[in-house]
Amino acid sequence: MSDPHELTVLNPATEEVVATVPAATAEDVAAAVARAVRAQRTWALLPPADRARLLRRFADTVDTHVEELARLEVREAGHTVGNARWEAGNARDLLLYAAGGAERLLGRQIPAPGGWNVTFHEPLGVVGVIAPWNFPMPIAAWGSFPALAAGNAVVLKPAETTPLTALRLAELALEAGLPEHVFQVVPGYGRTAGRALADHPDIAKIVFTGSTRTGREVMERCARLVKPVTLELGGKSPNVVFADADLRAALDPFSFLDNSGQDCCARTRILVEDTVLEEARAVLADGLAAVVVGDPADDKTQMGPLISRRQLDRVRSYVPEGAPALRGSAPEGPGFWFPPTVLTGERPDSPAAREEIFGPVAVLLPFTGEQDAIRLANDTPYGLSGSVWTRDVGRALRVSQAVRAGNLSVNSHSSVRYWTPFGGFKQSGLGRELGPDALTAFTETKNVFISTEGPAL
Ligand code: NDP
Repeated sequence: MSDPHELTVLNPATEEVVATVPAATAEDVAAAVARAVRAQRTWALLPPADRARLLRRFADTVDTHVEELARLEVREAGHTVGNARWEAGNARDLLLYAAGGAERLLGRQIPAPGGWNVTFHEPLGVVGVIAPWNFPMPIAAWGSFPALAAGNAVVLKPAETTPLTALRLAELALEAGLPEHVFQVVPGYGRTAGRALADHPDIAKIVFTGSTRTGREVMERCARLVKPVTLELGGKSPNVVFADADLRAALDPFSFLDNSGQDCCARTRILVEDTVLEEARAVLADGLAAVVVGDPADDKTQMGPLISRRQLDRVRSYVPEGAPALRGSAPEGPGFWFPPTVLTGERPDSPAAREEIFGPVAVLLPFTGEQDAIRLANDTPYGLSGSVWTRDVGRALRVSQAVRAGNLSVNSHSSVRYWTPFGGFKQSGLGRELGPDALTAFTETKNVFISTEGPAL
């Protein structure tokens, strides 16, 4: 079956059409890559300070459009306007951070008998970024901006449901003075435009964020060309709550409800020490009842709709009618609404407790003692995030070391900071984004040996 020629962008809160956008074909992707190859040669030759200056100007341009970008994100993705402002701000801040990195992308000098070794970080060429719909702006930015700072060109394919903020960011890049074709967006379908990017021989690296299933396919396609990939995949993160924790903070419903639970770092397995299970249930019930679900454009709203009917159906399939649960409330529709929910009757091996649901649904599971907590926390094919809540410093450190995940927080639910590395263990992914090494991930390291021996006389 061939794809439609257009992407139809729906407002998930109302089901109204926000926009239609022409869908890129494989030929469109190839043409974008060819333009990017030419543009990258000049971009890479710019002195780093000049690249940095242009990226800072891009950041200033994003800054003056934060509200506009946020409102666009509300309409195409159903995010609450507060979250959407954070997302546009995150893209701006990462531009500034990456610009600084461009000026500090230093090589090394390694002594050797008879000469010197000098290492260089050279850009890869053209980087392909395949982004999902759950955080359209930040995830597009994480893949693209450090790559640009390191001297690469970028071709970005946003998700078919959320192309608008990516397209607007590309316009703002041009407005800020970035050379044409250095940062291009090809809105299209994954099975057409996404595959064309992964398969293209002139794409030097793919950064993919999305499901483990699609990530695996992208990796297989890249393997044929021995093309490096960064994969940021799913999660089923534990929230490990010991009896001595501050239960109200530990059981904040936004540990799993942020972005309506469509968050790869959502703490959707709430593991509570059995001695405080009843108290935890009461705290969770209060928390869920207080969540304000509704119009995402309203500043007072805390949780909006899901992205699509498909996602709503998927979430519903994990929560059968009458399943034992604590529940909040949600509007009826139109729109793709699901109430905040904590399932209380699941076993650790049930699908709801093991699979990424990607909606406002968590499971509550009791544990007995530290070893049991660690065992349960690790009882998942994923390893992206997690939280440990206890007032015992030694235990916090022991448990953090024992949990196999890339991003843990102690007495906190925070996961993402543009200045710290982000990525997963196990089937949550491969490689790291953000942080001090973000730029080098988009370079090849070259070593040049310079002989100090004179020519033979
Ligand atoms: P996908 O992994 O299929 O989509 C992510 C991106 O990959 C989109 O841009 C998509 O395009 C593109 N894509 C799809 N198929 C291919 C392909 N064969 N080759 C190259 N690119 C492709 O996720 P879904 O949107 O289908 O969501 C399904 C589930 O994945 C969610 O319920 C959630 O569990 C998980 N997910 C996890 C995310 C995370 O951050 N870890 C983010 C999003 C989803 P298109 O939009 O056209 O499909």
